[in-house]
Amino acid sequence: MSRLLQHALTAQADRRPEAVALVMDGARMTYAHLEAASNRLARMLRASGVQRGDRVALLLPKSPRAIVAIVAVLKADAIYVPLDTTSPLPRLARMLQSTAPRCLLAEAGVAAVAADLLAATPERAPLALGWIDGPPPPGPWASRSAGFSATDVEALADTVLDTGVVISHANVQHFVDWATTYFALGPDDRTSGHSPLHFDLSTFDIFGTLGAGGQLHLVPPGLAVAPDAVPRFIRDAALTQWFSVPSLLTYVVKFDAVRPNDFPSLRRLLWCGEVLPTPVLRTLMARLPHVSFTNLYGPTEATVASSYHTVPACPATDDTPIPIGAPCAGEQLRVLDAERRPVPAGEIGELYIAGVGLSAGYWREPEKTAAVFVTDAAGVRLYRTGDLGRRGTDGLFYFVGRVDSQVKSRGYRIELGEIEAALHHIPEVREAAVVAVDTGGFEGAAICCAYAPAPGAPLTPVTLRQALAAVLPAYMLPARWRRLDTLPKNANGKIDRPALRAAFAATA
Ligand code: AMP
Repeated sequence: MSRLLQHALTAQADRRPEAVALVMDGARMTYAHLEAASNRLARMLRASGVQRGDRVALLLPKSPRAIVAIVAVLKADAIYVPLDTTSPLPRLARMLQSTAPRCLLAEAGVAAVAADLLAATPERAPLALGWIDGPPPPGPWASRSAGFSATDVEALADTVLDTGVVISHANVQHFVDWATTYFALGPDDRTSGHSPLHFDLSTFDIFGTLGAGGQLHLVPPGLAVAPDAVPRFIRDAALTQWFSVPSLLTYVVKFDAVRPNDFPSLRRLLWCGEVLPTPVLRTLMARLPHVSFTNLYGPTEATVASSYHTVPACPATDDTPIPIGAPCAGEQLRVLDAERRPVPAGEIGELYIAGVGLSAGYWREPEKTAAVFVTDAAGVRLYRTGDLGRRGTDGLFYFVGRVDSQVKSRGYRIELGEIEAALHHIPEVREAAVVAVDTGGFEGAAICCAYAPAPGAPLTPVTLRQALAAVLPAYMLPARWRRLDTLPKNANGKIDRPALRAAFAATA
């Protein structure tokens, strides 16, 4: 029988039942408890009609209970569909419509969202509704659900994408196997669970850590508001591994919240999902000489990450690019031109990914899937990332930007990422993003910059423009500016560029 993600967790529960598996807000859950509770919930899911291949939607904030639910869904041979409980209702309703789950698991804290969601999707009956923290709270459930109340799982209470990308056990298991070996993950690891559960990076947090017998410390979603909160979390939990999107690290460094030789237990710091600005990395590497730093690159469609680069030494300058490195075991990266031919080393092309991490595609969207999952002349399946990259003379891959971040403005070809890189070098800038807005005229795109100054920095568009003009040609200087306290983030914690674009377009 093929190896399924839950098997390694069960093996750990057999081996060290009393070891701590999950920690959040001071509450702990052992492997034995995780195993028993997920078995119970899996049986209840089966009893409520869930069958192999059915979807089970999880309307659950991040918590040890939610991890129990994820493992239980897998044990019931079903597919978990993690919903972002803070998403706007129409988006949640669309996800429910398109994934057509057999069951929705909720908890009392989100009963109001569950009620709204069921009201917004009346044609989705019958749908079993399960409450994983006790009997159903008051609500309009009776007429809608052939549901169950998970009073059995009650004990848990006190212990503790517009488009769905289909990610299989094998996809995650391959990445986890590679990462467990490469990072030497083991039972003495205490790792961060920073990514939201609807972000594919969380699969590495969960199955990487628990499969290795380590402790997963779930980071409360609102934690990062104060710049010192994350450093304190790492110190207090004596974490050995931190894994997150870079924006959080940038924030922490800009506020100078990491002390020299901080986090004595930390062994590795990993990031994925965006470029980590080199000045931020240099600060972290100088302050944390005992830590190894690894850049992971990859889209959800190729599961967690497809390439990696552990930075061997502190980059010499602030504009040294950090490679996305070499493919993880079983993966391939290719740099291809518009005709899908390989481009010579050093030249920029579009990044394609092949290998064991590739998703089967988008849930019930064959056309959208066919547009980006393509086959080469040799019959190899490739995912077209929409990222621009190059292979360096050192044999490593470099991320250069997005296909759509290269714009034409007044006839010049401009890479928006270059402007952002220049902004990141300015110490008074805490966060910045550059987007292009179509002007509809012959000028092409207008370059728009949103920025948040570092605390106390009297940064105006005029002074910022002057600072940029010292390093960039005039045609690359943004034409529009917006000063914000913090930049908007999407549900995955990345800078929400579409929202910024819309805001600039609305004030054109
Ligand atoms: P998502 O599917 O939300 O994880 O987004 C995937 C996209 O994030 C990729 O196609 C890249 O554009 C970007 N990305 C992921 N990892 C990195 C990285 N290490 N460096 C730069 N960009 C990245």
